[in-house]
Amino acid sequence: MPAIPFPAKRVTRARALEELAILERNYAHAVTALEYHNPFELLIAVILSAQCTDARVNLTTPHLFAKYPTPQALARARQHDVEAIIKSCGFYRMKAKNIISAARDLVEVHGGVVPREREALEGLAGVGRKTASVVMSVAFDEAAFAVDTHVFRVAHRLGLTLGTTPRQVEEDVTKLVPKAKWRFAHHWLILHGRAICKAPTPRCGSCPVRDICPTPPIIAKMNRARAVRAR
Ligand code: SF4
Repeated sequence: MPAIPFPAKRVTRARALEELAILERNYAHAVTALEYHNPFELLIAVILSAQCTDARVNLTTPHLFAKYPTPQALARARQHDVEAIIKSCGFYRMKAKNIISAARDLVEVHGGVVPREREALEGLAGVGRKTASVVMSVAFDEAAFAVDTHVFRVAHRLGLTLGTTPRQVEEDVTKLVPKAKWRFAHHWLILHGRAICKAPTPRCGSCPVRDICPTPPIIAKMNRARAVRAR
């Protein structure tokens, strides 16, 4: 199926709130799929999860943390040894370098403790706005809304945003959701994107938002055009 164009217009605020309320009801108990025991493990798991599934990360981190259970231990690791453990996560050379550097920063700058402030988190190697937002919201219950590829896609398909960057999507969606719910809204959209609103083929027939989402009419129009071409 060719890529489905995103809606060209945002839905009304009332419609957007209705869509989000449905997602909230359907994913009320959503939590991260990454397995971790403390903020350090979450931070490393989130860095490893770039371009990789959470399931794959969850298979890898027990080996990594068995050998390097603390920032101090990881800061002393040899890159080659870390690469061998995380190889299946993809981009393993860069990720190994980043997690060792981040661990060193934690030890040298933050006393071996993961900071909860965005600026300090984004100062760590391999940590951008999305990773910082996940750590802030999941590990520390801070108000933060992380935009990954699923959130970006689902927010567009629902007509919540026309933003062309993750930051613009974040700004649009956080204007619709009370601050106290930002950290949950991230999970609503991610889980919906993984389970139903998949790329490239959304399962609109099974979607609880289908009656008010602006994308099914776009897909129907594409299908009609394809049927005409096939005649
Ligand atoms: S109706 Fe389809 S496009 Fe809209 S959110 Fe549901 S699965 Fe995604």
